[in-house]
Amino acid sequence: MRSRWGARFSRVRLPTEASEAGLVAANLVEIFSSVQGEGTHVGETTLFVRFGECDLRCRWCDSPHTWRRATDCRVETRRGTGAFRTLSNPVSLEQSLAAAVALDVDAHRFASLTGGEPLLQPDAVLALARALRTRGPRIHLETHGLAVGALERVVAAVDVVAMDWKLASDVRRASDARRGPVADFHDDHERFLRIALRAPEVMVKVVVTPATDDAEIDAMCERIAAVAPKTPLVVQPVTPFGPVREAPGAERLLALVARIARVLPDVRLIPQTHRLLGAL
Ligand code: SF4
Repeated sequence: MRSRWGARFSRVRLPTEASEAGLVAANLVEIFSSVQGEGTHVGETTLFVRFGECDLRCRWCDSPHTWRRATDCRVETRRGTGAFRTLSNPVSLEQSLAAAVALDVDAHRFASLTGGEPLLQPDAVLALARALRTRGPRIHLETHGLAVGALERVVAAVDVVAMDWKLASDVRRASDARRGPVADFHDDHERFLRIALRAPEVMVKVVVTPATDDAEIDAMCERIAAVAPKTPLVVQPVTPFGPVREAPGAERLLALVARIARVLPDVRLIPQTHRLLGAL
């Protein structure tokens, strides 16, 4: 099987637009095989391509090493072994595809383009999505849900848009002052959701912490209900990390879900699972 893909790989043609733009290389942090740990496709086999750089600063972010462009990209050499080799950035499309082929990309239900924030590199997302899609997996874009223009460029090559809905109680832009109030994200998220609906499948995820307040949850629900009320909304209790020391308790979580369900019928409470497995 691998040699068959290898033979095909040698004849890979690069997507025209990206080739013409000369932007088929990406700043990547890692490429590896695992199962989806979050959202409505939890547990499904997924090849992850993690992009470098993020323009947000979530207080609970468990991957601050992705905030800036990476010098090197680590590439898993055999599925599930945790053995990696290193590539220097930027990683070419050919190198990314070769890594995916070596990890049996065709055996995965999804290829997840994640970060960091992948939509900070839309040309690379478009090229990778098109190239990986022809090899079998559905393309699962995991994004902070704010880069509206970039999504417009890539959405036709994406099968699932998994967008976050960021709450200003815990998230600021990297360009914001470290202290003081920050503007909320509702307007940009609403615009993003309207574009995301061009994809075959969309889900929204909101991470909740002890700082989450009802008013911002209500504002989020009103915006989603105004655009696409049947959109699945995943409530993800924070996995404590960094300055966020604890998750909301069960009583608070169930009250939040009940509150949301009055407006959005498809609300689901799904914690991160890959930490339980000790997986990547
Ligand atoms: S958007 Fe993602 S990568 Fe960026 S700070 Fe938030 S959790 Fe971390």
